[in-house]
Amino acid sequence: MVNAIIFGAPGSGKGTYASRLQSKLGADVIAMGDIFREIMKENTSLGRKVKGYVEKGLLVPDDVVVEVLKQRLTKIPKGKGFILDGYPRNLNQAKALEGLDKIDVIIQLTVPAWIIIERLSARRICKNCGEVYNIRYLKPKVDMICDKCGGPLCQRPDDTPEVIKKRIEVYEQQTQPILQYYKEKNVPFIRFKTESLETTPERAVEEILKGLKKLKLA
Ligand SMILES: [Zn+2]
Repeated sequence: MVNAIIFGAPGSGKGTYASRLQSKLGADVIAMGDIFREIMKENTSLGRKVKGYVEKGLLVPDDVVVEVLKQRLTKIPKGKGFILDGYPRNLNQAKALEGLDKIDVIIQLTVPAWIIIERLSARRICKNCGEVYNIRYLKPKVDMICDKCGGPLCQRPDDTPEVIKKRIEVYEQQTQPILQYYKEKNVPFIRFKTESLETTPERAVEEILKGLKKLKLA
């Protein structure tokens, strides 16, 4: 059983790696972005609270984010670990997590900006259902048409090199202090650096698993 946090810039492949790791590790992926989307559909006091902030375009305050995480953690079956994706986003959240559960390992993905730009520029999204494709390695069966619903695929307007670069910069500024925090706490790190566009998710996952085995966590 392992409790991990995965860190990686937007476009680093973090979500893909986390979901591939989950079956191999017998761990639940806790993807905060997805959880927020789900919780907003629920007619619960917490769901309404979150929705209130999001609809006003406000940042959800840390205490509410922590509450959402806490609720999700209680749903993990006994004996199962988790892979946290999209949390913590700041030091406050990292400190709050300490009171909730133990973190065994940090998985840190590093992907050079040019690779992220290449990847995201090849990304296409279904206008209809939101399914994500990549004209390089996750092509739809019919050109520019969604396999799932037949809707038209388009490029997200903010997937331009300038915007992507800015997103990476912001991510790094926000994440540096959190990584530093875990280093000072002596939490072990597994670092995986993507060095080429051809690096497959299989290889990345294999390397991460190797690291976990070395630490006797897998
Ligand atoms: Zn679709």
